[in-house]
This record gives sequence, C-alpha cells and structure tokens, in this order.
Amino acid sequence: MSSIITKIADMLHGKGKELYGGELVTQAQHALQCATLAEAAKSSDKLITACLLHDIGHLLDDDFERLAAEKDLYHEDLGEAFLSEWFDDEVCQPVKLHVAAKRYFCATNDKYLGKLSAASAQSLKLQGGIMSDEEVKKFRLHPYYQDALRLRVWDDLAKDPDLITPDIAHFMFYVENSLSKDI
Ligand code: FE
Repeated sequence: MSSIITKIADMLHGKGKELYGGELVTQAQHALQCATLAEAAKSSDKLITACLLHDIGHLLDDDFERLAAEKDLYHEDLGEAFLSEWFDDEVCQPVKLHVAAKRYFCATNDKYLGKLSAASAQSLKLQGGIMSDEEVKKFRLHPYYQDALRLRVWDDLAKDPDLITPDIAHFMFYVENSLSKDI
C-alpha cells in the first residue's frame, strides 16, 4: 500500500477523532458521511475521494499548518496544497472550491442559507459572505464547479450524529484508485 494512503488513514484515525467545529460529529464521521453520500449517488472514485478528504486541511500536522499560516492559507487551500502532491484536479479542485460552493448556493438558492448549520452560517461571514453576481458568473466558468456543488450538498448533510457509515478502510479503495498515475 502506498505510504500516502497509510498517512491519510492515520490522519482520519488520529486527528479525525476531534469534533468537527461546532457540530455533533467528529471530523472522521463527517468525512465518512460525506463520502458515503457520494458513494450512494454512484459518483466517480475521484469525487468520492474528494468528499472523504475535503476537510483534510483541518487534519494536517502542526508543521504543515505553521507553513500554511505563513502563507495565509485557509483550510480549503491548505487541503488542496496537501493533496495536489498525490492527486489531480478532479480530486483537488472540488476540495479547493467547497467553501466557494457554499457562498455560491447562498447567492443562488433562497432557502439554502436558512438550512445551514449554525456553525456553517457563522463561518460564512469569515469566508467572504454571499457571492456577488459577478462572483457567481466567474464560479460557473470553473471546470470543476459542478463537482464542487455536489460535494457541498453532501458536506452539508454529513453532520448527522446517528448516521452509520462504512469504515475508513472501506474508502481507502477509492483513495488508492484516485492517486495520480505518475506516483
Ligand atoms: Fe465539511
């Protein structure tokens, strides 16, 4: 098994035990639920991987976080920076865009904002708030914006303390299949 696969599984088993900020699930439960929803929708291996790893920016070790702080990176950029060493855009871009996708849905769907969890509505302000019309237009030009929107829908649903999912090992199959070929 590739060492990055072991590393990712270790991160989910380790730091993944921490609560997902302001929610009733752990980081690992949140990741697994998001991936489970993507799997149930018969998504590609790469989108399932993106769903599993979309918040990996919160699970990186302190050294990497320090580096990111120097560069002023947010968790979605941090996740993309980490993942891009091993995965291509089909995995990395939906991860990078999942916060922008929330801002997009707020601008394009009247009911969306009201359905966000309290923590997610709170962080919206820090993330730039609702997208302007100009930002919406620009977002739609991104080749991976639709995958980012799919990921976002599952991300928002993946906060159910009672949902049972397959385990971390189950999803490592998709992660391994999604590695860039030249590794
Ligand atoms: Fe999330």
